[in-house]
Amino acid sequence: MIGQETIVSLKQKFASGDLTPADCITQLYAEISSGDAEIGSYLNCELDKALEQAKNADLSLPLGGVPIAIKDNINTLGETCSCASKYLESYRAPYNATVIEKLLAAGAIPFGRTNLDEFAMGSATENSALQVTKNPRALDHIPGGSSGGSAACVSANLAVASLGSDTGGSIRQPASHCGVVGLKPTYGRVSRYGLVAFASSLDQIGPMTKTVEDAAVLLEVLAGHDPREATSIDEPVPAYTQSLNKGVQGLKIGLPKEYFGEGIDPQIKTKILEIAECLKQQGAEIVEVSLPHTEYAIATYYILAPAEASSNLARFDGVRYGHRSADVSSIDELNVKSRSESLGDEVKRRIILGTYVLSSGYADAYYEKAQKARQLISQDFDEVFANVDALLTPAVPHLPRKRGENSDPLKDYLEDLCAIAVNLAGNCAISVPVGTLGDKNLPIGAQIIAPHFKEETLFQVGSAIESL
Ligand code: GLN
Repeated sequence: MIGQETIVSLKQKFASGDLTPADCITQLYAEISSGDAEIGSYLNCELDKALEQAKNADLSLPLGGVPIAIKDNINTLGETCSCASKYLESYRAPYNATVIEKLLAAGAIPFGRTNLDEFAMGSATENSALQVTKNPRALDHIPGGSSGGSAACVSANLAVASLGSDTGGSIRQPASHCGVVGLKPTYGRVSRYGLVAFASSLDQIGPMTKTVEDAAVLLEVLAGHDPREATSIDEPVPAYTQSLNKGVQGLKIGLPKEYFGEGIDPQIKTKILEIAECLKQQGAEIVEVSLPHTEYAIATYYILAPAEASSNLARFDGVRYGHRSADVSSIDELNVKSRSESLGDEVKRRIILGTYVLSSGYADAYYEKAQKARQLISQDFDEVFANVDALLTPAVPHLPRKRGENSDPLKDYLEDLCAIAVNLAGNCAISVPVGTLGDKNLPIGAQIIAPHFKEETLFQVGSAIESL
């Protein structure tokens, strides 16, 4: 099974001559064709293009010949970029995102487009307008979201690794629910150029993998300054793999008390505290810390993210690309009908909410106030990181719920209780699988949070937790 390979193991097979990249793509395509019927992680896979790339693969490059699945909101020239929306269902990307350029330059083969919540808005992938995705570990449960397809294909051994995007937890939460590794880089670490914008001050692209080592290998390729992206930061890219397996001796790890209280499943809390105890035995110093403004994170996010979304999604006007309503007699009617006909309920809800909080008379009370709260949340992290190297928390507050069981959007907004403050503050964080719970063996993840541009610490602590 190709899908069982990691990036590192696949590279070894190529290097030893046991497998060629072309055979790898052919076999993986067959595995996806038979295996994904049940899971629904992929929206489509372009075999011929990938085979062509595989035949020319340069095995001396860091990811030579390695297929990487891509969330369908990241532009890859000539391929779909539907954002799982009826609006963009027939759209084809006219250019490559910077991350795709970087993958190609490193020899990788972007292969397969994965399902998501429409425009990455959601936590269950149930807001996809195109397809259902199931949790490979328990088919009647959600895979999480919005990068549910990218998590599910890796978890189901139908991909070696994938890319997701994380605006408010969308890499870490599905990674946790599906039992894979998911990393949200520091804001500005990975270029957003070519990622369909949801909330531009929060969005980051990141790796979803089977191992912490693979996440390090992939981030090393993805990270770096991009002159085409104004918020991309010009910081050197460390050799992340050198931070693996260094142990945690001498590291100071904080347990923020707000992440172990109300709203957190006690079994998950117990599991994460056990992990902390193990890290202590390996020489880490464990201290309780406080991030006092955590309780405002969800409310702050659900003002700022919809505000930015309402502005970003104004480009989908029925004129330039995407769905165009047929029977209209004015430009206004064209805009309204094209959007009304093809955007889903959650996307409409966000646009309405965002327009409301930005509207004159309300912007001070909502948008401006949320910006101030964001500042306080950010300062909490700065203060706590003056004293600790990393934070350890649950990645999600509870086990993955059953599919089709949620009729209240507010409940799903709480899925990202442990994730969202990190996006608001711009820090980096990783979710690492730490076993399963309950009679269905549902996966749980531990989240490690580190200061800005300290992804090395995520890999150091992440590999220690993985080896437990
Ligand atoms: N679940 C959150 C939302 O619906 C986060 C989404 C994301 O990170 N893209 O906004």
